[in-house]
Amino acid sequence: MEIKKKDIRALTKEQLREFFVKQGDKAFRGNQVYEWLWQKSAHSFEDMTNISLDTRQMLQDNFVINHIKVDQMQRSSDGTIKNAVRLHDDLIVESVLIPTATRTTACVSSQVGCSLDCKFCATARLKRMRNLNPDEIYDQVVAIDNESRLYHNRPLSNIVFMGMGEPLMNYNNVLKAIDKITSPEGLGMSPKRIVVSTSGVPKMIKKMADDEVKFKLAVSLHSAIDEVRTSIMPFNATFPLSDLREALQYWYAKTKNRITYEYVVWDGINDKRKDVDALVEFCKFAPSKVNLIEYNPIDDGEFQQANSRALDMYVDVLEANNITVTVRRSRGKDIDAACGQLANKG
Ligand code: SF4
Repeated sequence: MEIKKKDIRALTKEQLREFFVKQGDKAFRGNQVYEWLWQKSAHSFEDMTNISLDTRQMLQDNFVINHIKVDQMQRSSDGTIKNAVRLHDDLIVESVLIPTATRTTACVSSQVGCSLDCKFCATARLKRMRNLNPDEIYDQVVAIDNESRLYHNRPLSNIVFMGMGEPLMNYNNVLKAIDKITSPEGLGMSPKRIVVSTSGVPKMIKKMADDEVKFKLAVSLHSAIDEVRTSIMPFNATFPLSDLREALQYWYAKTKNRITYEYVVWDGINDKRKDVDALVEFCKFAPSKVNLIEYNPIDDGEFQQANSRALDMYVDVLEANNITVTVRRSRGKDIDAACGQLANKG
């Protein structure tokens, strides 16, 4: 019977050091292997050239490295790149590289499918299969960093957890991945360049604040009126805006980190003056700014981007109330890599 080997990257550095001591080797060997696994992102034990052949064989006999594989890479005419990433169990997730003049951002997935059911989102149509492991999240970032260097001649500068899945429903693994991404033994990126974007799970927002995380928080708000929000994000019935508001106030009191509200204006759904007024009131609860995002229809259904008059009204009213607002144009539409479009269409 074939013995299932353990994924070596599930071990902490300390556990790796202990493993080598048990094998009669030096603990330091654990540090060397750890560096290969994370900082150098080795895909196989053979790559570990400063480790003796016997030791590499011993590792091969005991462990596997479940590295992701970029199955398909699509490049958009605007420089956006979408990766279809195959996991060790043959499931697929997607991640996206978004280049602008000043930064290169990786948009990564945290779950296969999603636990939530936002009506406007392509990912919601795939049922949640499983959470991603920390190494699977980390590998997506490394793959995009490599592509950024290759196609845009610069390293990755920012990361957003805005791909498939709700990151706060896979909190522990997302946190472990961010630890590796920010550690000098991993990619050494500043946590200030990382944004975790949630649909708003109040309990987990408070937990993040208690954990004193250093990355930034974005909330996909889309409406500050319970009735409207529940109609497009049904879980809002369980976590209403009053709970979200309280959690966000708690977050700001603890972290002093301003919150970004991601917001799409849809035709006939949230394009009226009362919708803007409710957003203005919500923004007063904690220091925040608003990102108005261009929407990409996932089919000819009920969700269509509002006209430019409605968008202008949002910008004018928010600015008149001294709320910072940016309008984010969508990228990579021609390859279905834009926000809310990730659904393994290939
Ligand atoms: S918008 Fe985000 S949280 Fe909502 S279903 Fe899509 S992936 Fe999940």
